Amino acid sequence: MPPIPTEDLNTKPHGEGPKFTSLVDATYEMAKKILPFLARRQIPLTPDNYRIFYDYFLGLKPELSKRVDELLESDCRFNPEISEEIFRSFYQPDEFQVVSIAKVSDQIALISESLTHNLGTTIDNTSHYREILSETVNQMTAVRLEDNSLKNLVDNLLEETNTALSSQNDLASHIEKTRNLIMSLTTELKDQTRLANIDELTQLYNRRFLAQKINQLIPGGENQTALSVLMFDLDRFKKINDTWGHNIGDKVLMLCAKIIKNNAGSNYLPVRFGGEEFLVICPGLEKAGAVILAENIRYQVESTQVTIRGKTIPVTISGGVAQFTVGDAWEELIARADKALYEAKQSGRNRIIEL
Ligand code: GH3
Ligand code: MG
Ligand code: MG
Repeated sequence: MPPIPTEDLNTKPHGEGPKFTSLVDATYEMAKKILPFLARRQIPLTPDNYRIFYDYFLGLKPELSKRVDELLESDCRFNPEISEEIFRSFYQPDEFQVVSIAKVSDQIALISESLTHNLGTTIDNTSHYREILSETVNQMTAVRLEDNSLKNLVDNLLEETNTALSSQNDLASHIEKTRNLIMSLTTELKDQTRLANIDELTQLYNRRFLAQKINQLIPGGENQTALSVLMFDLDRFKKINDTWGHNIGDKVLMLCAKIIKNNAGSNYLPVRFGGEEFLVICPGLEKAGAVILAENIRYQVESTQVTIRGKTIPVTISGGVAQFTVGDAWEELIARADKALYEAKQSGRNRIIEL
């Protein structure tokens, strides 16, 4: 691999792994390595490239580091196609879209915070310095006009000062640009994280987000609170689609999702689990409470008037409720809720069964 100047790298680029005292330090130290490195090699500071070089410097993906080394050695431009190729080769789609974006987003937010703070101060100092320099240049120009004996000295000083002045100008605008770039990067990453975690049609969490979150929610270790799961499935939804068309079907789905989301509030996790299937994961809720919550949702769906072209479409939903018991695997809990839902369907639909 090409030599990396030591002024912006106090650890080896990969292999040893850096030693940091806190996440903020780590994030800031990484940014201090990555940002100048990308700038010097004229690699665009995009979320993808930031992520790639974050892992490159962290050194936990040796194959990725090897590939990046090859590209750096061949003086290859890190255009979007190259970044994409690296992502396809070294990242799992899920890993990138959910875990990585969330992680990078958090990191960028931290970097942005520290840079905004630090660079804000630098810009103030820089502007102040620029004022002093301008003043000095003016004074020296005046001196030159009056005193020929100082000419050579003043000429030299003037030249040096002008160079310093223009580099200060560059620095200030560079800092400003970097700060703006980081701000927009943060926004972009937040949007991407949201897109990766939320189902577009219903605006509920998607299955991928649930998979990422579930281990934190399952009771175990110090987390010993109750956990209940509600599973819903729209009744005879195929008939609604067949009778009224897919677009109306979508509207009905959105309406049910809204009722579920409102009932879940901020304590529980509403998820679109499949086409017309939903879950509500309820940490801290015993089964009796979960059944009441499920009944409320069922009742609100049934009572909502969906009127199309003057005709009312009856919409109902069935639900199964299960509570976590010690020793349950996540899949077993879901299977119990599914079984309860199946019984609700078998016994006539538009009802809640608990198991
Ligand atoms: P049951 O009461 O037994 O659940 O009957 P059902 O008709 O609801 O069940 P079935 O599994 O036969 O049909 C589900 C339908 O949901 C089929 C599928 O086309 C439809 N569906 C799944 N996702 C969407 C979606 O995003 N939009 C629309 N409009 N329909 C969807
Ligand atoms: Mg279904
Ligand atoms: Mg159904």
